[in-house]
Amino acid sequence: MYDANHLISRLRAASISHETRNFATFPARASMTFGELFAGAERNAAALVGMGVKPGDRVAVQVEKTIEAIQLYLGTVMAGGVFLPLNTAYTTPEVAYFLRDANPRVLVCDPARADDLAEVAGDARAVTLDGKGLGSLTDAVVGRGGFDPVPRGPDDLAAILYTSGTTGRSKGAMLSHANLASNSVMLRDYWQFTDQDVLIHALPIFHTHGLFVATNVALLAGARLVFLKGFNADEILEAMPRATALMGVPTFYTRLLADPRLTRERAENMRLFISGSAPLLVDTHEAWEDRTGHRILERYGMTETNMSTSNPYEGERRAGTVGFPLPGVEARIMADGKEVAQGEIGVLHVRGANVFQGYWQMPEKTAEELLPDGWFITGDMARMDEDGYVTIVGREKDLVITGGFNVYPKEVEGLIDDLPGVLESAVIGVPHPDFGEAVVAVVVPTGEGTSAEAVKAALSGQLAKFKQPKEVILLDALPRNTMGKVQKKALREEYARLFA
Ligand code: AMP
Repeated sequence: MYDANHLISRLRAASISHETRNFATFPARASMTFGELFAGAERNAAALVGMGVKPGDRVAVQVEKTIEAIQLYLGTVMAGGVFLPLNTAYTTPEVAYFLRDANPRVLVCDPARADDLAEVAGDARAVTLDGKGLGSLTDAVVGRGGFDPVPRGPDDLAAILYTSGTTGRSKGAMLSHANLASNSVMLRDYWQFTDQDVLIHALPIFHTHGLFVATNVALLAGARLVFLKGFNADEILEAMPRATALMGVPTFYTRLLADPRLTRERAENMRLFISGSAPLLVDTHEAWEDRTGHRILERYGMTETNMSTSNPYEGERRAGTVGFPLPGVEARIMADGKEVAQGEIGVLHVRGANVFQGYWQMPEKTAEELLPDGWFITGDMARMDEDGYVTIVGREKDLVITGGFNVYPKEVEGLIDDLPGVLESAVIGVPHPDFGEAVVAVVVPTGEGTSAEAVKAALSGQLAKFKQPKEVILLDALPRNTMGKVQKKALREEYARLFA
């Protein structure tokens, strides 16, 4: 009966004939076969239905990364439910908001949080799952029998993922079975994943990258995962000679480059290094190629759209770009209601089977960003070069408008990053009495010897005056979230009164 459930039938198809092959291996050398994975998922589905989960009901999950949590994801979708993963960093008041907003039937949380969260769980049935895959959920799952997946069509919801909410309230992106299935099938083929692949899985599973891109692509290919709790250079480097692929955020690559054990020999068995979720510096791209002989494949996506663009598997992977619109995905770059001329910067819109169904219970927000003809306004500023490669220039809301002129942070950051003695930088706009906003550069030096004055002086010959930072601030590190994204909002708040 797997056939009746759109997403599950697809995720199951590649492995149905090799039940006894390993799907996941763990650092302690333990492993789990495809057969065990899906049998466990069926037991989870049966347990969830026992707790009252009906088609369309949300199952909210804030747990550590375990293979049991993957079984819970699959089990939720099998039960016809809507999987709602939450970042483990969210505090109780934050989780309370998501629970009020999404009104889930079941909340699965870590036993250490159970007492706090029980108070905010509302009508949800609260059960637990810990970092070892044990808890009251497991107790309810053990001893259950097989389960026929609940029929669900392509347009039914499979998941709601809350966006990181850099402005205003966090929004629940509704993803259908077809959104997830179509994107993952396409990525499997585009990146040439097969049952010969061994993918190092070190990303969190509360986010689209680790949950859908990595897990679904591996399942669809019948590939194996080296399933790690999180980023751990020792474990990744240990796994590399037996693995074929790694999906990471840029910080994975910079941290691995800092480790002398990363060598060409160690990376010899690997066929593919993929980066996304935040911009990969050209320097990192080049350093990685020098060290390993591999060119990182950078791609671009977001919670609302799954993956939208990718550098080619075969063909030139162009550093600093996110490649071409993926098969089945249309892209256009817009300014003032029109497509911009080639090479100009505008806001990226995408359309295709990858684009989500809208924001949960926010019809107005949905209407602002998802146009009636299917185009989704990503909010990312981008340009396309003459060969069709897309470059992401930054979020629209990070654009700095100073004295009426637009400054694209990436242009300034690129020049600063190229200066000797600079590791990286973030350019922000902060309130200024004369200019409205002023350009401020936050710079991370590589060591001693770089000064704010030196950075300012180096830029003065290279940039129009209005683009030059009015202030340069040196910091040891940029604030980042777990997906490696620089938290510009935090920087703007920190320096909001610089010119007050
Ligand atoms: P999220 O919804 O958390 O996955 O965040 C999506 C956002 O991450 C996008 O709108 C982009 O701003 C950013 N992003 C994702 N991939 C890339 C990339 N390869 N380069 C630059 N920004 C990226």
